[in-house]
Amino acid sequence: MLNRYTARPRHWALLFITSTCLVLGLAIYLSSTPIETEEEAVPPMSEILEALEATDFHNALIPPLSPPPDWEQYTLQAGDRLSYLWQEKWHLPLATLYTLLDNKEGARFLNRVQPGQHIEWLASRDGQLLAFRIWQSRAQGSEWLRESSGFSFRNLTSQREVKLLRLEGTLQGILVNSLNNMPEIAGQQGAIAAALDRHLPLRRDARDGDTFSLLVEQEWLSNDPTPYSTRLLAFDYQGQRMTIRAARHQDGRFYTPEGISLIPPFDRIPLAQRFRISSNFNLNRRHPVTGRVQPHYGTDFATPTGTPVRAPADGRVIRTGRNHHYAGNYLVIDHGQGFETRYLHLHRIQVNRGADIKRGQIIGQTGNTGRSTGPHLHYELHINGRPVDAMRAALPSVEKLQGADLKLFKEQSQQIFSGLDNRLALQDLAQRLTQNASSIQ
Ligand SMILES: [Zn+2]
Repeated sequence: MLNRYTARPRHWALLFITSTCLVLGLAIYLSSTPIETEEEAVPPMSEILEALEATDFHNALIPPLSPPPDWEQYTLQAGDRLSYLWQEKWHLPLATLYTLLDNKEGARFLNRVQPGQHIEWLASRDGQLLAFRIWQSRAQGSEWLRESSGFSFRNLTSQREVKLLRLEGTLQGILVNSLNNMPEIAGQQGAIAAALDRHLPLRRDARDGDTFSLLVEQEWLSNDPTPYSTRLLAFDYQGQRMTIRAARHQDGRFYTPEGISLIPPFDRIPLAQRFRISSNFNLNRRHPVTGRVQPHYGTDFATPTGTPVRAPADGRVIRTGRNHHYAGNYLVIDHGQGFETRYLHLHRIQVNRGADIKRGQIIGQTGNTGRSTGPHLHYELHINGRPVDAMRAALPSVEKLQGADLKLFKEQSQQIFSGLDNRLALQDLAQRLTQNASSIQ
């Protein structure tokens, strides 16, 4: 109807109708917006431009304290299902497993996993798989590596050897200084210091002159001059203010010789009552305007301003801050053993940085500060430096191992503690541990 010949005479009429619609639209918009609890309303252009720069804005504002990601390991048990482990235990995207299965040669190994086979993987901070290995035997493995276009696959045929190191030290200054004198773990000192820092209240209770011994496992490939994995198996810390010994269990956590966890039980939500979840954890969330993948690293609870926030587990406040543009008033708690929680958009922060806090303790009040269009709590759980879905992650529920799990831990840890105490030749122990872990060819 509005062709180019008739449009011109109606120009003013058209402009009038258009502007009336705009005004009406704006009035309706304004009257309907105030109670909006979703975090991602359409942001102004300046913020869109900023978001294009930083895909990871929550984390960009609260720089990571945890060390860079390290190889993780798992030995397959009878009854394990790879897809279950993948998603529920390792917190990796299931879509990536299907991508690995796309390679026909590699799929043969993924479809035929056996108890005793050893798996290693490396994931980025945002939970994306970077590399994945399955060892069918000590000398035969398969490896998938992330490339710019999908994953490459290759067979690994070099001999794999496990070595154990017993290291003894005396604390002088910070722990990593004491470790720096140990050439056996060159390049790994920072990672081991970080691992110990997760398990021990070093920042509070370490004193010069404290002694410690560590049992460290290193894996080597025969044609590689540097170890491709190093991990702490057990430690014994004898200090003026603390005496703690613990060994790693197959669940990756550390327990005392009696099977008591070094990490206390963890509540699922940091609030006294349930509130509606207005936005879920989602690593693949697309920004409504830019269309770019902009992960949502937390769970949003629609809470009235002033709702008390309770610590889900014992820990220490390692960071508090105010960030006008994004996080608002926020705080970060380190719970030990790689568990960290973050609370954003708070109305009030009621604990100080450095404070030790108890499970259930009120740490602040929910609010609407920072980049938030309605009162809510943005709650993040990080495990070993990576954000995970706090509503689904496996959380420590018991303080002490039970039943068959306790029996297994006691059997295995007895050898490990013997090795730590220098009562067992490390060569023998390495062999026994390898045999225990795998009944493979
Ligand atoms: Zn959020």
